[in-house]
Amino acid sequence: MILYDFGCEQGHVFEASLESMFDNDPACLRCGGATRRRPSRVNIGGAADAGPSREQMPQSWRATHGGDPDTVRHWHRLAEKREKLEERHPELAGDRRPVLAHEGIFQGAPLRAGDDIGAAVHDRLASGARPHSHVVASDDRNTPATRKESTL
Ligand SMILES: [Zn+2]
Repeated sequence: MILYDFGCEQGHVFEASLESMFDNDPACLRCGGATRRRPSRVNIGGAADAGPSREQMPQSWRATHGGDPDTVRHWHRLAEKREKLEERHPELAGDRRPVLAHEGIFQGAPLRAGDDIGAAVHDRLASGARPHSHVVASDDRNTPATRKESTL
């Protein structure tokens, strides 16, 4: 159960608990009007700020209201995945697309589904990001020993 605060357009504020963040917002207890979730005193999944997901996910879910259970499960999985991701990578909070790569040259600027991969790699390299592997230039192959021999 997740505890939420709700408010209606008439300014009535009340508190209610939902089975999950995907449940419909209840009607106002006093006037029966539509309500919106207010910032909750209980954070979901320990994330510091779960606001954007609460604003976006339930609205997306409403589009599937009465739809098939697979769609709901799909959104549920996405939300769980994203929340875990945000705990480890708070910088991802603003972009909900799945992350394809976030290490190496994509550290700090993850590659996401829908990105132009070629352009993304070019941008990351151009901005100074380096791959982990070090390419040895041909000049570096001369060891001190061989240099010493060549000067003799
Ligand atoms: Zn009301």
